[in-house]
Formats: sequence, C-alpha cells, structure tokens
Amino acid sequence: MTLPQNPTRTTRDYQALDAAHHIHAFVDQKALNAEGPRVMVRGEGLHLWDNEGKRYLDGMSGLWCTNLGYGRKDLAAAATRQLERLPYYNMFFHTTHPAVVELSELLFSLLPSHYSHAIYTNSGSEANEVLIRTVRRYWQILGKPQKKVMIGRWNGYHGSTLGSTALGGMGFMHEMGGMLPDFAHIGEPYWYVQGGELTEEEFGLKAARELEAKILELGADKVAAFVAEPFQGAGGMIFPPASYWAEVQRICRQYDVLLCADEVIGGFGRTGEWFAHQHFGFEPDTLTIAKGLTSGYIPMGGLVLSKRMAEVLVEQGGVFAHGLTYSGHPVAAAVAIANIKALRDEGVVNQVKNDSGPYLQQCLRQVFEGHPLVGEIQGTGLVAALQLCEDKPSRKRFANETDITWRCRTIGFEEGLIIRATGGRMIMAPALVATRGDIDELVSKTKLALDRTAQEFGRL
Ligand code: PMP
Repeated sequence: MTLPQNPTRTTRDYQALDAAHHIHAFVDQKALNAEGPRVMVRGEGLHLWDNEGKRYLDGMSGLWCTNLGYGRKDLAAAATRQLERLPYYNMFFHTTHPAVVELSELLFSLLPSHYSHAIYTNSGSEANEVLIRTVRRYWQILGKPQKKVMIGRWNGYHGSTLGSTALGGMGFMHEMGGMLPDFAHIGEPYWYVQGGELTEEEFGLKAARELEAKILELGADKVAAFVAEPFQGAGGMIFPPASYWAEVQRICRQYDVLLCADEVIGGFGRTGEWFAHQHFGFEPDTLTIAKGLTSGYIPMGGLVLSKRMAEVLVEQGGVFAHGLTYSGHPVAAAVAIANIKALRDEGVVNQVKNDSGPYLQQCLRQVFEGHPLVGEIQGTGLVAALQLCEDKPSRKRFANETDITWRCRTIGFEEGLIIRATGGRMIMAPALVATRGDIDELVSKTKLALDRTAQEFGRL
C-alpha cells in the first residue's frame, strides 16, 4: 500500500533540515548526514511507512516500547480528553490529580502485593537516577549512610544520563565524565560467550556468585543495592541461565543488599507475564519502569517501591528532597491508564503468554535451528535473540560478527524489516498485539535477511 506523501516536504528537504539542526542518538552524525536518515511518517499496528511510501514491519516495537502497536485511537483520545480538561499540574504544592491517583490504583492492582508506592518520571534514565537517590536515602534513614555503593553489570544498560550511565556497564558510555564514585560492576550472565566448559546451570551460579565476591570485596556495610535487567535488553536480549536469579536473590538477602530490577524493557507484558521478574521467579525490592507503561505514546517512567522501602521513606523519612516538574504528568498518566487497561482488558498479556509468544518462539526454532549463521535461539514471549556463530559444537564466534549482524540489519531495512544488531546477535521484540500473520512476516523476512547475509559472507 502506498500512502499519500506528507504534503509539506520531500524526504530530501527533511534530511537537509535534520542534518542542519539535529544531533541523533548513538550515531556518527557526520556519517548519518551523508547517508540521510529514513523519515518515518505513519504507523499502524506493527507497520511503519516512510516518507517515500515504503512499508516496514517493525520487529522492535520502536525501541521496545510500542507494546500496543501504532495507531491506537483510544490512547490518542485519552490524551486529548486530558489535554482539554487539565493539561498540567505539579506534585509540589501539596496537590494531586485524578489521573495520577487512578494510574497508581491500576498499577498496584496488577503488581504483586508487596509493592505499594511509585515515584513517576519522564523516562527510564530518569527513573534510574531517582532509584540511585532513593536507595541511598533509604539507607540514610535507617542510619546506614555508608551503604551507598550501587552494583550493576558489565554490558547492562540503564540509561543515558550520568548516574544511569555509571550504573550501566557499557564501557564506551563511561568515557564522558568517567565512572562516578560508589558504582561497581560484575560480569554478565552470558553463558554462550563466557560459559566455557561449564554447563548453563553451573555458569549461572558462577555469574551470580560474582555478586557475592564483589559485596565481600567492598564490604556489605558499603553496598546499597544490586541493579540489573531481568534479561539484558540493549546488551543483546541475553537470557541468564535458570540458576541465576534465585542465587542472586539469596545473596542480596544474606548481605542486606537491595535487589533492584530494571523492568524498562521487560515490563508490561513482554515475556508473557506483566513483569519480567515474574517470569524468572524472583522478588525485587524496586522496579524501574518506562517504555511499555504508555506504549511509548507519550514519555513516562517510574520507580516502584516495595512496601518495606516505602514504609521507611514515608513513615520515618521526613522531607524527601526530590521532585520533577513533570512527575505524574496528567496527560502521560491518562495515556498510561488507557494503555494498561487495553493490555489487560483485551487480553494482550495473556495472548503473549499463551499464543503469540509460544508461536514466535516455536517458529524461530523451526526456521533457524539449522541455519548456517545461527548458533543459539534465546527468548520467551515476544522477545528473542539469534546468536550467530561460526562453529556450533565449540560455540566459536565469527571474528567479524559485528560486520555480519550489521549487514543483516541493513538488508532487513531493504526488505522492509526492522530488527536490531547487537554484537553477534540479531534481536527482535515485536509489539505485543502481533498476530500470527505479523509473526509469520517477521520470521520470513528475518530468514530472507539472514539468508542474503549468509550468501554474501560465503556461508550459504
Ligand atoms: N533501562 C533499560 C533496561 C533500557 O533498555 C532503557 C532504554 N533502552 C533505559 C533504562 C533508559 O530509558 P530511556 O531511554 O527512556 O531513558
């Protein structure tokens, strides 16, 4: 289907203006200016159209966020109604408003009962900044101000602000301003690459016990929290071995270290459970949320606190010196309510668990198990990664794996498919409203892209 062009400007005009005034995310801007970015103009369900009328299947839900897909009139209507009634008010002057109150009511009706309070933000990065300050405040109130080291993981991603970058483990992101004091990192539970001769089970325990060793090295009286994504997202959709999370939880409890789950990608149905920690069966003290909270229709994030933490902060803490102009923004809250109700009432999360999720996972395994580039298929629900490898039995990787995955991603765009390359992995996370037809298109286009890549690199 060719859609009417955006009536006002040509693609070249947009590209020229963009190059003149705009710096993009995670890119060599000069190279991008030379190439010219795609100009997306419309979305519907899982599909996007660019300004040339070319159609793409979005296998990444934008950036893991459009859980309900594009073009939802109910979300647009919720925003419009709220914009007309009360477009803004703040949380500073002893004031609240129905949208934020009702959002909290809805959120805590879905969450396990040991969570009770949320602090709202505009993004995942901000939510993790709030996490760092809130965790430190918690220990201060309990008379342990020296307990302030935050332990994250190498190759973890928690955002692009200073604190969230320090918490994350992307070395190349630490360069601007370096690492902050009172942050530490342990290894990631990436068995395929780092597991050596160990079984997955053994490696999961080994990776978890790095946390114990780090706590003992730093001193448990200095360590405030361990922060991690239940499965790594930006790091490559890496699923830890089954033995990992129970051991991490044991360690955190033993040393009185808070366990903080970054659910920015995993939250709101991605794995078929409302939150990814429920899929892995552990109980974090805090949850960082964003993205799927509003299906990306409007920016919003938040930090969810356990009752235990909230009681300390609220009952014993006095004034909490924290606040954002747009915390609990009424329009964002109204969209979040409409979004969560749709995920719940249309049975979207259940469908991911019982139908579309198993279907995607089964199709991927059927199609790619014997593929000459693919060593392992990981994932659950509507999130998956294809790990490339040169030799399956030894799990030997291609020396030029990032060239291969980048090429595959580029071919994907040519074929009208958006999937992402991360290290030696091709990753996908389609919108949770994906039909079997959408999944068939995703899998067949991914096969086309991988086959063309394999041919170009002499593997087919
Ligand atoms: N945490 C995780 C796990 C993320 O994947 C991201 C973004 N990809 C963030 C935090 C940061 O969220 P934002 O980009 O909304 O600041």
